[in-house]
Amino acid sequence: IKVVVGLGTCGIAAGGEKVFKALDKYIKQNELQADIMSTACIGMCYAEPIMEIHIPDGPRIIYGNMKPETAVEILKNHIYEGKINVGYAIAQETRGNQVIEDIPELKDIPFYSKQVKTVLGRCGVIDPERIEQYIAADGYEALEKALTTMSPVKLIEEIKISGLRGRGGGGFPTGRKWEAAYQSNDSKKYVICNADEGDPGAFMDRSILEGDPHALLEGMALCGYAIGADEGYIYVRAEYPLAIRRLRKAIQDAEKMGLLGQNIMDSGFNFKINIAAGAGAFVCGEETALMHSIEGKRGMPRVRPPYPAQSGLWGHPSNINNVETYANVPAIVRAGGSCFAEIGSANSKGTKVFALTGNINHTGLAEVPIGISLREIVFEIGGGIQNNHCYKAVQIGGPSGGCIPEDLLDTPVDYDSLLELGAMMGSGGLVVMDESTCMVDVARYFLQFTQEESCGKCTPCREGTRQMLKILERICAGEGEPEDIPTLERLCRVIKDTSLCGLGQSAPNPVMATLRYFQSEYEAHIYDKK
Ligand code: SF4
Repeated sequence: IKVVVGLGTCGIAAGGEKVFKALDKYIKQNELQADIMSTACIGMCYAEPIMEIHIPDGPRIIYGNMKPETAVEILKNHIYEGKINVGYAIAQETRGNQVIEDIPELKDIPFYSKQVKTVLGRCGVIDPERIEQYIAADGYEALEKALTTMSPVKLIEEIKISGLRGRGGGGFPTGRKWEAAYQSNDSKKYVICNADEGDPGAFMDRSILEGDPHALLEGMALCGYAIGADEGYIYVRAEYPLAIRRLRKAIQDAEKMGLLGQNIMDSGFNFKINIAAGAGAFVCGEETALMHSIEGKRGMPRVRPPYPAQSGLWGHPSNINNVETYANVPAIVRAGGSCFAEIGSANSKGTKVFALTGNINHTGLAEVPIGISLREIVFEIGGGIQNNHCYKAVQIGGPSGGCIPEDLLDTPVDYDSLLELGAMMGSGGLVVMDESTCMVDVARYFLQFTQEESCGKCTPCREGTRQMLKILERICAGEGEPEDIPTLERLCRVIKDTSLCGLGQSAPNPVMATLRYFQSEYEAHIYDKK
């Protein structure tokens, strides 16, 4: 049998390493015929530390909230008593140290059953540090297929057919972006991965980097082949040390096996990948600032055009996508673009990974078909609001997004529907708030974040967000004045229309959304001086 322990950042933080050591020791001391391996996050962060025991051809059963001694006890049950569905605590529901009969299979747990795993399919299943496990799970098959049977034009066409849109926030069609870089004439081009995940409450990309790093490398190599680039950069935040370590190992292993580097698979195609660690500036998630940072300059956005596809890193044509976008590409190439396009809504295809945080029972990662409703995500997958409290709002899209009230929870989650509500898909952060949350304070929190992260290059963003923050602090302190609301509205419009980059243009969004749906709370602060 195989014993698997989740050792992503969430698993390690919850004590997974102690569970792993206790199981490893027990297996060795008793000379058991069992393999123990670590994996990354399976998405159920709320139930970490997690253990899974695989019996050949048996069901997938996850045991959550493990302690070293209970994990060993469960292993004994499996080995000596053949009790497959017996444990002390389960991921679906924590019941303390009670022995429970008939634990459901993973596929029947509501958190899991509504999800469609494309990008996260291997996360929490394979050992991300063993390339052979990635290869055994169809890894590098798409690259081989492209190099042996597809021209760059055909590959780009397949991505266009899939309808894949950038998962980093903007939602720009990926195939069109690749096509623009392909059409740029230059002997040197770059593929850049934006792994500078900086939204508060967002950890989707980290999970992919830690759990399935080869999927990103393969997606980037496919992009390199498509646009005619021989070099790539992964710009990853230095606050993700485990992700960086696993990426480095993945690159080395792929190079040793001829899957990256010179003359990949004897095709004549060369592609090497470098890692650039960012120092934690939120603005470096903006593509031109990110490229400046890789070049060793101060991370500040510049005016576009020229777009990166024409003049990017060191002046050469470059394609920039985020981690989740690239990680979708191997599956598209393997199964075909039209197969990918069967999932999702009319203008938004495929799945999206969301990070569920805040006052929600099941914090963690959920990969869902685009077009699912927010209500299904929050109440079925997420298990509803903690401590039987009432739902108040969900902040979707991080500091650039907006708050969605309860009467709009049935809105389908896709790029266009969310924009109509004054929110945005963003990179996938979902912060759920209960009725005790002050929405003015939420707006103040997000604005404080963007104000601190403003690079200061242009006046509307630098000075405008400062003025807005002063007003919001005044209102929260019960010192607001009636004219503060129209002043805030005017500042929102000006900053949105005149800031240079996306950070400034979207900074007013949380204020605009809370004014739109929760204006009574602003008025209560101002008129009742609460
Ligand atoms: Fe810098 Fe803000 Fe201007 Fe962007 S909008 S360039 S972050 S000051």
